[in-house]
Amino acid sequence: MIIAIDGPAGSGKTTVAERLAKRLGFFFLDTGSTYRALTYAALENNLNLESEKELTDLAASLDLKIDNNKVYLKSIDISKEIRKPRIDKNISKVVGFIEVRKVMNSLQRKETLGKDSVVEGRDITTVVFPDAEFKFYLDADQKIRAKRRVQQLLKEGEVVNSEEVEADLVKRDQSDKNRKVGSLKLTKETRYIDTTNLLIPEVVEKLFSIVRPKK
Ligand code: C5P
Repeated sequence: MIIAIDGPAGSGKTTVAERLAKRLGFFFLDTGSTYRALTYAALENNLNLESEKELTDLAASLDLKIDNNKVYLKSIDISKEIRKPRIDKNISKVVGFIEVRKVMNSLQRKETLGKDSVVEGRDITTVVFPDAEFKFYLDADQKIRAKRRVQQLLKEGEVVNSEEVEADLVKRDQSDKNRKVGSLKLTKETRYIDTTNLLIPEVVEKLFSIVRPKK
């Protein structure tokens, strides 16, 4: 069974998806981390972020392993590195190329092959798993989402400028919603959940109560 969750940055989808997966005993895949790892590898290799060919070749040869929410590139744990602001600043260029997305889509499908999974991202309900048994779209007010992102970065020990974080988030939202391929979209058959005034456990409970009867 696949539970697909999409939504913008700061909507709480990663934490919710992770906790839901744990509760259900399902595999959890944060697809944003796969794009983050690709961006990290592109920067480390000084690739031209405007070159679809260079990035597609890199995606096709990416030695990526995801285990217990840790992300390994060539067996090195890059879980912390991929959450740094330099990745946020550069990722939009990398994720807009159709050929890159095709490779990443199949990498994501391969990761979950044969496993009951909770998968979250931007195009999971529409492109990667359009036939998922359950499809959710998590959202929240922009100010709240930016505040959550600032708190997350502070927790990770980053020095942050709140205004800059919100500006980056708005920029990413716009490019996620408006790009030609794999854009963030709410479709008719996907359940919309506004998490602005909800605590994480409340959102998890909501999703769990919908999924449980069919599990
Ligand atoms: O979810 P997260 O914020 O970690 O994702 C980082 C970036 O990766 C997003 O801003 C988005 O541009 C991209 N992404 C994507 N498709 C996905 C998941 C993430 O384009 N399925």
